[in-house]
Parts: sequence; C-alpha cells; structure tokens
Amino acid sequence: MSAPDDRVSAACDLVVVGGGPAGVAGALTAALRGLNVVLVDSGARLGGQYFRHQAGAAHTATPGLDRFLRQGRALGERAEVLLGHQVWTVTRDGDRLTVHCQTPDGRPVAIRCRDLLIATGAHDRPLPFPGWDLPGVLTAGGAQALLKGNGVVAGGRVVVGGTGPFLLPVAAGLAGAGAEVLGVFEANGGLALARHPVLALGKAGEAAGYGLAMARHRVPYRTHQAVIAAHGERELEAVTVARLDGDWNVLATREVACDTLAVGYGFVPQIELGVELGCQTRPDADGMPVLAVDGRQRTTVDGVWAAGEPTGVGGRHLAELEGRIAGLAVAGAPVPGVLARRRRRMRAFGEALHHAYPVKPGWQSWLRDDTLVCRCEEVPVARVRAALALGATDARSVKLLARPGMGWCQGRVCGYAVACLAGERPRPPRRPIAQPISLGALADLDTH
Ligand SMILES: Cc1cc2nc3c(=O)[nH]c(=O)nc-3n(C[C@H](O)[C@H](O)[C@H](O)COP(=O)(O)OP(=O)(O)OC[C@H]3O[C@@H](n4cnc5c(N)ncnc54)[C@H](O)[C@@H]3O)c2cc1C
Repeated sequence: MSAPDDRVSAACDLVVVGGGPAGVAGALTAALRGLNVVLVDSGARLGGQYFRHQAGAAHTATPGLDRFLRQGRALGERAEVLLGHQVWTVTRDGDRLTVHCQTPDGRPVAIRCRDLLIATGAHDRPLPFPGWDLPGVLTAGGAQALLKGNGVVAGGRVVVGGTGPFLLPVAAGLAGAGAEVLGVFEANGGLALARHPVLALGKAGEAAGYGLAMARHRVPYRTHQAVIAAHGERELEAVTVARLDGDWNVLATREVACDTLAVGYGFVPQIELGVELGCQTRPDADGMPVLAVDGRQRTTVDGVWAAGEPTGVGGRHLAELEGRIAGLAVAGAPVPGVLARRRRRMRAFGEALHHAYPVKPGWQSWLRDDTLVCRCEEVPVARVRAALALGATDARSVKLLARPGMGWCQGRVCGYAVACLAGERPRPPRRPIAQPISLGALADLDTH
C-alpha cells in the first residue's frame, strides 16, 4: 500500500513506527477502537525480528507466526500500512508530530499525526575480538535474519557463541536447516533461569523445544566458554574457544575448525527517535539506555508512546503485550489490571534475563592491540587505548580523539564496546538522523 499523497499523507490519529509484535499489536488495538492509524516499517513484510518470514513459506517453524499474520491482515483492513519506509526523524509543530520517512528509491514521505508509538525493536550487541571482521563471522541475529527472511543457511560448519537464551533458537534453526552446528558456547552459566517463575509459567516449553532440537542434531551446549578469536587467511577457517572464569578471563583454549561463526552478546534497544524528541531514558538492568514509560506505555513527552524492546528487552510476548497496552491507552481506553500485572511479571523476567546473562569485563583481555573496535573507521584497540591515555574519560571524547563510531553505522556496532573500554555505562544515542538518508530527503525537511 502507498500513501494517498507521495509526500504528505493526510493527518492521522496515530503513527506506529515498527511492524514487529509490539507495533502490530499497538496499531491493531488502536484501529479496532476507531483511531485512524498508519503503521510504518522499513522491512518488506510485517514481522519485525521474531516474526521475520519469507513470502509463502511454511509457517510452522516460528511459533505464533500464523496468529501474527492474521493480526497483520486484520490491520491491513483497518489501517494504512507503509512497508519499505524508513523513518529517519520526527518533528513537532505545536501538538502535531510529523513523521519523516524515506522509501527504498529515495522518495521522501511525511505523515502528520497526533500521537506516535515507537516500536522500533532492537539490534544485535556485538563485542569485538581478534578476527571478528573476517568474512564468515556474523552476529547471531544476522544469521537468524538470513535464515528466517531469506531461507539462507549462513554456513556449513557453524559455531554459535556469546551469551543469552537467544543463542538457542539460532543454533536450533541452523541445525534444523541443515548446517552442522559444532557447538553453542555460552559465556555465562546456562541454567541460571531454570527456576524463574515466568519460565515455569510459559517459557519452559519454548526452551525445552530448542533443547530437544539441539539434542536431535547432537549440538553440544557448553557453558563458561566463549569464542575469543577467529582465524583465517581470507575468510573464517577456525575459532579459538576458551574456558572462562566467572569474570570471563581465559583459563584454557582450544581451536575448532569451522566456516561460520554466529556470535551475540545481547541487544541494543533502538531509541533514537524518542531521544531526539526529548523523551527521558533510564538504564535497563544491563545498563543499556531504554525509553522511560509509565504503566500506560506513555513516555515523558506528550503524545509519544513506546512499546517492545525500546522500553527494555524482554522477548516477543512482552513486546506484544506492551503494544496492546499502548494501543488501548492511546485510544483513551482503560488498561485492564490483568494486562498490567502480566506486564510487570514479564518485565521482571526480562530483568532476570539480564542478570543471568551479563557481559563480564574479562572480554577486554581477549583483545589485541590490532583488534578493530570500529570496523567502519578501522579503529584498532591501540588507538582507543591511546585516546584514553591522552586523557579521554568517556566514549564521546574517545570518539573525538580516535574516531570510533564516526562511520556509516554511527556507533551502532561499536558503541557498546567503546563505552565499556572507556569505563562508562552506554549513554543514550544522539542521532538526529535515525537512519541513513539521501540529501534530497534531508532537503525536503524544509518544505514541511
Ligand atoms: C536481529 C535480531 C533477530 C532476532 N531474532 C529472534 C528470534 O529468532 N527469536 C526470538 O525469540 N527473538 C529474536 N529476537 C529478539 C526480538 O527482537 C524480540 O523478541 C521481538 O521481535 C521484539 O519485538 P518488537 O516489536 O519490540 O521489535 P521488532 O520485532 O524488532 O520490530 C521492530 C520493527 O521496527 C522496524 N524499524 C525499526 N526502526 C525503524 C525505522 N527507523 N523506520 C521504520 N521501521 C523501523 C524494524 O524494521 C522492525 O520490523 C531478535 C532480535 C534481533 C535484533
């Protein structure tokens, strides 16, 4: 579907940015209560990260996908859905907001609205290590996205590493699609959440399903172990796997030959749009900045709401629930106590996940002087350490002195690592332009 006018859609009540579980639930809930809703997503299909899928693919592989697709169809009948539209900024004029998007062919599109729901999800949080820039090394989310979105199995002999329960669906998915998964190396202890009440309530089945899939494909799951280096002439040929102490210092190492490594250390919530509108943030349990919301998903800025990962990573069920709550609240409907209680319980589970799978400081001992921290600007660890020795006291001054985070990705990939190396908690991102855009789209801002 496209907007009635290519450049400015008629004003609507609510624009939802993000077509994952949070955004679709929020948009549908608000539309069912009579609001005029536009949902915008940069992807080619609704789904977000968890429900990423191929057109016409069998839907049994992803639990809940059929239900999500029904929601998506219902939404399409009641609201305008703009796919392939990247939102790069939101401006305010009195009590009206204008959401500025760009289409894949560079056309600017602006949508005026009264309320905005930010449901932009998260992206992978990688850590640098020697060789992480070799072809064949992917983020865990990247490998998962290739598989779900394109049916592409990232490699033949795959190692999965990092920390967190997300490693399990990645390994199970790759093994199920025909890859030989040589092992999952979890840097923390794997069973830390086994007795959590929310796991007992609903997540246990999902976790058991991944466990079974891994057992069926004989995928070893090793705790307190991590991939600390990748090796290869032109592309990945082997990795060094280390046994770690509780702080992730190396106790012993061995090499594992492989052609692909999928590695992930959690997620970075995407909060740029909210930060630029002046929304307050708070540190999540893992220290990542997230948008502060009240019990109705309202941010600290009038007319701006947030749901799903931008308010804290907690999985797709919590994202959908928060979307529903936001949809009700924007429409002025009461939020039933049962939803609020469920949200509190799931949020507590999300926080328990962060405590169970922290990033420990010992990873910095895996680095060598020539390990690239920022791949866009090719900044090695030595330059970051030189900036710190020169007196840089935070990630921002390291960036000014050594340039990490100044390239194409604007610190999305290296920002967390640079903050850790500078000895500070990651700060809210300042990216007035939330997505890369053409100069034409930027110039078009003047006309609205
Ligand atoms: C790469 C990746 C893969 C993941 N895979 C899984 C998985 O397989 N299993 C699992 O349990 N969990 C997975 N997760 C965790 C997952 O993010 C959540 O469980 C769930 O999808 C969160 O839902 P959400 O609605 O908050 O965000 P998402 O599902 O991430 O949806 C956010 C949507 O917003 C869109 N968007 C973001 N910014 C903009 C913008 N500026 N303009 C327009 N559109 C925008 C994105 O395209 C995306 O479709 C993954 C996370 C990542 C980062």
